[in-house]
Amino acid sequence: MVIVGAGIIGCAIAYELSRRGASCIMIDSRLAGMASTNAAAGILAPLAEFQRPGALVQLGMESLRLYPQWVERLAEEAPDIDVEFQLNGVLRVAFTEEELAELRKGLRYQDEAGLELVDLDQTIVREVEPRLSRNVVGGLLCPDEGQVSNQLFTLALSRAAKQRGVRFCERNPVTGFRRSQGRVTAVRTAMGEYACDQIVLAAGPWTRPIAKKLGADVPTRPIRGQMVALGGMRTPIRHVVWGPRGYLVPRANGLVFAGATVEDVGFRFGTTQRGLAQVRRAAKELVPQLSQAQDQFTWFGLRPGSPDGLPMLGALPGWENVTLATGHFRNGILLAPITGELIAEEILAGRPNERLAPFGPDRFE
Ligand SMILES: Cc1cc2nc3c(=O)[nH]c(=O)nc-3n(C[C@H](O)[C@H](O)[C@H](O)COP(=O)(O)OP(=O)(O)OC[C@H]3O[C@@H](n4cnc5c(N)ncnc54)[C@H](O)[C@@H]3O)c2cc1C
Repeated sequence: MVIVGAGIIGCAIAYELSRRGASCIMIDSRLAGMASTNAAAGILAPLAEFQRPGALVQLGMESLRLYPQWVERLAEEAPDIDVEFQLNGVLRVAFTEEELAELRKGLRYQDEAGLELVDLDQTIVREVEPRLSRNVVGGLLCPDEGQVSNQLFTLALSRAAKQRGVRFCERNPVTGFRRSQGRVTAVRTAMGEYACDQIVLAAGPWTRPIAKKLGADVPTRPIRGQMVALGGMRTPIRHVVWGPRGYLVPRANGLVFAGATVEDVGFRFGTTQRGLAQVRRAAKELVPQLSQAQDQFTWFGLRPGSPDGLPMLGALPGWENVTLATGHFRNGILLAPITGELIAEEILAGRPNERLAPFGPDRFE
């Protein structure tokens, strides 16, 4: 089995396949985890932007429930890596009564979503996070959401997968495929060919140009996100704080990660002064004290977007042995465990997994 793309999604699939006894090879043009996965903030929030609970929220909930057992297993398999997993709550805040009313609409759905939401007025919200701006009029705390170090979690996953026999071929771009009668028989790369019985395309936004080599149109789209790590002061917040124009993530190393732009600018690499200024502005709006913080570093990543905001998980139409796992957009870190489990299950069972039905790549045909 060959997996193209060793981001968090490819690594989760390889790890899960190897746990079930399958042998796989991971191929990546960079080092594992060094594209979108490395750029993420690590927020684990299925209710992220308060859509009405639908297929994506349900999938996110299932994945969040898997996180503790994945973290526990990885702690045994890669004991020197602490993935900084915490379910210590995500606080969403509003600056106007309209924004607060919009947030509170989510309260109706808490039972359906299966996550508790605590409604906080202006006084209580500042008891929960004392350094929040005085302009915050209220908020909602979801005590069961949380965060993980996306970088360390992916490192632990790749290490555990390697220990289980997964071979990583890094800095080795896929250049094409050998095929025969509706099947891919080998993956061509800069360093040679890899024969395969099954292939998974998990190359984030690059899945589109790669699938094009098979004559398939996979509508992934890069959506750039820029972020800033703020430091040089005591961490002013305890929870992930999500506002209308940005979010803040207090990291274990004392930095506050501030994010993020959402830019539909194609495969454009790098940060921009304008994008970073927007992120800094949103950070200071939430916690004014952050205007005294120093930029420690800045970065960007290209999220794998999809036309309807849902991931594409399942068989690539027209091909017998090609599976897609991409389009996770803003939720790939959250969705990695459930994606790993369901894709591994589907491939090894050799038939479509009903739970993946809402995410079938054939919906765009
Ligand atoms: C700024 C930012 C903040 C985010 N915050 C969060 C968050 O808080 N929570 C959350 O859940 N999600 C978050 N995300 C989204 C999350 O990062 C992504 O959904 C997730 O990383 C996607 O993982 P992936 O493995 O599909 O893609 P990637 O990590 O991009 O991996 C794809 C891999 O394919 C490889 N590849 C490309 N072309 C080729 C080729 N020709 N041959 C071989 N390999 C190739 C790449 O090198 C790359 O390693 C954030 C994203 C960004 C950018």
